[in-house]
Amino acid sequence: MNKEELKIKKQQYKKEYRKSSHYKNLKKRWDRKYYLKNREKLIEKSKRYREKNKEYYKNYNKKYYEKNKEKIKERSKKYRESNKEKIRLYLKQYYKKNQDIRYEHYKKYKKNNPFLFKEIYTRYYAKKRNCKFIITQKQIQMIYQRDKMCVYCGSSKKLTLDHIIPVTKNGHTLFHNLVLACQSCNSSKNNRNVFEWCKEQGREVPIIVKKLLKEKQSQQKILIYL
Ligand SMILES: [Zn+2]
Repeated sequence: MNKEELKIKKQQYKKEYRKSSHYKNLKKRWDRKYYLKNREKLIEKSKRYREKNKEYYKNYNKKYYEKNKEKIKERSKKYRESNKEKIRLYLKQYYKKNQDIRYEHYKKYKKNNPFLFKEIYTRYYAKKRNCKFIITQKQIQMIYQRDKMCVYCGSSKKLTLDHIIPVTKNGHTLFHNLVLACQSCNSSKNNRNVFEWCKEQGREVPIIVKKLLKEKQSQQKILIYL
């Protein structure tokens, strides 16, 4: 056997050996050792590399997600289900740590979507008081734009949505049963009949209230079908 042949044979042997499980296990151990020894350095290196190839990774991740959407969703669902307690604790800690940021975010969102929050509140109270709730944030916005101030006294302080026919008298949270009222008028009227209450206060029944009450019959007809 000449030198050249021996070299080829050695190479072949190496190649075969690298496929063996013995070698693979050894390599795993070496890699692990190397990694632990140079951990900080390696992390820093990969961070730098990722930073440098940001666009590539972004695209790659996006493509990968699109391709494996269902699989990823399924996997994360499984993970969430089997790590409920862990996630709960993590979120609790996270919320506590980011309380201020979250509150600022909430305040900003509320300011930008006032009618959405009014819809959420009215839905909550309607559910609590067991009355029908058929109104959208757009309709609530329409009520605010239509009435602009308390329909009973004209105040524009602390405006609330008033049920013309009170919830306790079978009034529902519907577009045709709501007007703007200041908090003071709303709590004074409470569950009284609007005609009686206005008379007692020495006020005319507002035109908008009369108009909406006229539509009450058609409201009732609608309600039957709901
Ligand atoms: Zn008022």
